[in-house]
Amino acid sequence: MAEYKGVLVLGELADGKLASITTELLGCGRKLADELRETLSCLLAGETVSQTAKEAIAFGADKAYVAEHPLLKEYQVDSYMQAAEKLVKEISPRVILLGQTSMGRDLAPRLAFRLGTSVTTDCLDLRIDPATKLLVRTRPVYGGNAQAVFVSEAMPQMVTVRAKVMSPLERNDSRKGEVMPIKVDVDTSKIRTKILETVKEEAVGVKLEDAPVIVSGGRGMGGPQPFQTILKELAHLLHGAVGASRPPADNGWVPEGLHIGLTGKIVAPDIYIAVAISGSSQHMAGCSGSKHIIAINKDAQANIFKEAEFGVVGKYEEVLPAFISKLKELLAA
Ligand SMILES: Cc1cc2nc3c(=O)[nH]c(=O)nc-3n(C[C@H](O)[C@H](O)[C@H](O)COP(=O)(O)OP(=O)(O)OC[C@H]3O[C@@H](n4cnc5c(N)ncnc54)[C@H](O)[C@@H]3O)c2cc1C
Repeated sequence: MAEYKGVLVLGELADGKLASITTELLGCGRKLADELRETLSCLLAGETVSQTAKEAIAFGADKAYVAEHPLLKEYQVDSYMQAAEKLVKEISPRVILLGQTSMGRDLAPRLAFRLGTSVTTDCLDLRIDPATKLLVRTRPVYGGNAQAVFVSEAMPQMVTVRAKVMSPLERNDSRKGEVMPIKVDVDTSKIRTKILETVKEEAVGVKLEDAPVIVSGGRGMGGPQPFQTILKELAHLLHGAVGASRPPADNGWVPEGLHIGLTGKIVAPDIYIAVAISGSSQHMAGCSGSKHIIAINKDAQANIFKEAEFGVVGKYEEVLPAFISKLKELLAA
């Protein structure tokens, strides 16, 4: 039987750089590898990824495995699977970490099946049980209404991790590590789908996921217009972005990409202003990592006030204009 050792991150790239989820996985993987006193590796697959491999080391990896091939230029499950399966069989990692992203959701169950192991998806917290060296995984259950802790004896120990719940290490370019090429002869007969076109979502202003301040509106906004006017104005003044709960997106008041929560984007800004949002667990699943939550709601009993650090009970139509005018006064001073 193979001896399983070490932690492996299956990395992702964004615009030729390490994707933020990968830096987060490396931060979490470093902690797990240190608890195990084993090494942290990262697989990067692409057309040319050697430069990115150095970034993976700067963010905590001891070893960066590089699989370079023209057919790995864009993520495609059948070709990436060949690189991932080859490396995993070669190095037998104890723990495999992927992001709960389009790639992770696609790749993880298929890879787990091929390796004869299980995968726990959408983890929020991970630690090593020192007695058994098994990975202890916390994930949401019942549509985000509760969290459960799982342990599996299946090896390797495989999970996907939600974005923005783990912190990356500070980038340190003087960190030492090994860049190790792995040869993958991509078998084209195994590639069953072809990418015809990649359409990029146009983000106007600050991107929601990167915004330090998010001003989010809920069903209580009553329609699309206040998102375009008052929420936009406030977000602009605070150099932030506009977000929403799910009903405004379902109703077509805002683009689908603005919806935050269990089934939408996960955000963790410095300040999250929730306007006319009741604070359902499904919504909070997407924003509870925010440093400070401020709620504006006309219902003093709304659940959002249990989650918020600061709150104003009142109609947004009255609270926001006063808030904006005070803000303008302070900014002008
Ligand atoms: C499987 C599943 C997944 C889901 N995923 C998500 C998700 O990802 N994200 C998400 O957001 N939801 C999600 N939902 C829906 C979720 O359960 C709630 O229905 C939703 O979050 C409610 O949105 P809301 O707070 O905007 O609306 P409501 O719950 O209708 O709340 C509106 C609030 O506005 C306040 N209000 C009304 N008028 C005003 C005013 N003039 N001024 C100030 N306050 C006012 C009201 O007091 C109320 O608190 C999911 C549900 C399920 C079952």
